[in-house]
Amino acid sequence: MQAHAQTSSADPRTALVLFSGGQDSTVCLAWALQRYARVETIGFDYGQRHRVELDCRSVVRSAMAEAFPDWGQRLGEDHLLDLALLGQISQTALTQERAIEMQANGLPNTFVPGRNLLFLNLAAVVAYRRGASVLVGGMCETDYSGYPDCRDNTLKALQVALSLGLDSPMTVETPLMFIDKAQTWELSAALGGPALQAIILEHTHTCYLGVRDVKHAWGRGCGHCPACELRAQGWQRFEAATATRAG
Ligand code: ZN
Repeated sequence: MQAHAQTSSADPRTALVLFSGGQDSTVCLAWALQRYARVETIGFDYGQRHRVELDCRSVVRSAMAEAFPDWGQRLGEDHLLDLALLGQISQTALTQERAIEMQANGLPNTFVPGRNLLFLNLAAVVAYRRGASVLVGGMCETDYSGYPDCRDNTLKALQVALSLGLDSPMTVETPLMFIDKAQTWELSAALGGPALQAIILEHTHTCYLGVRDVKHAWGRGCGHCPACELRAQGWQRFEAATATRAG
C-alpha cells in the first residue's frame, strides 16, 4: 500500500485544497498530497445543517498523515473560515415565508447560488498569503450538472480572473471534473489503495441528515437522502466493475 504513496519528484508548488471532510474532497486531498511538495487545506463554516462534516475534517487529515507518512510530511496547516455571512444572502433570509425543503438536485433551497465562486475567491486570498499557487477542488460536472459554478469553463474563467486580479499565477485544479462516483473510487484506489479507501469509508461524511451511527458497505449515513443514495450507487458500481475485472 505504501507503494501507492511513493512519489519520486513532487511538483514544487504549494497547493491549497478545498476540504470539507466529505468523500470527494478527501480524494482531492490525496490527489494533491501525491503531487505537490506542500499541501494545506481550507474549509468553510457557513452554518451547515450538520457540523459533523466539519468534525470529520481533522479526523481524516490525521488518519491520512498516519497511514501515509510521505503525505504526512507534505501536509501543512488547516484553515477554517467562518462564513456565517452566507446566512444573510440565503433564500430563506431573503424570502422569509419560504419553507426549507430539499430540491431535486439534493440540496436544500437555502443553497446560495454561486457559492463555489465565493469559496474559490476566498481560498485564493488565503492561498496567495500562504505562498500557494494551486487551488484544488472537488467540483464535478458529472453528478451535479445543474450547478453552473461547478462547470469546467466557469472554473477556467475564474482561474484567469484570479491570476489577473492577484497579478500572480493561480491554477485551479479539479481532478474529479469529468469522472463519476464509481470512477472517484477507482481514483482513490490508484492513489492510496485499500488504506485510503478504508479512511474514506470510515471517516468521511456525505449524508445530508448528519447520520454517523449507521454503517453501510459504502460508508456511514442515513442511506436514504440524495447524498447517501449517490454515494451508495457509486460504491456499488465500483464494486461491480472490480468484480468483473477480477472474474
Ligand atoms: Zn443520508
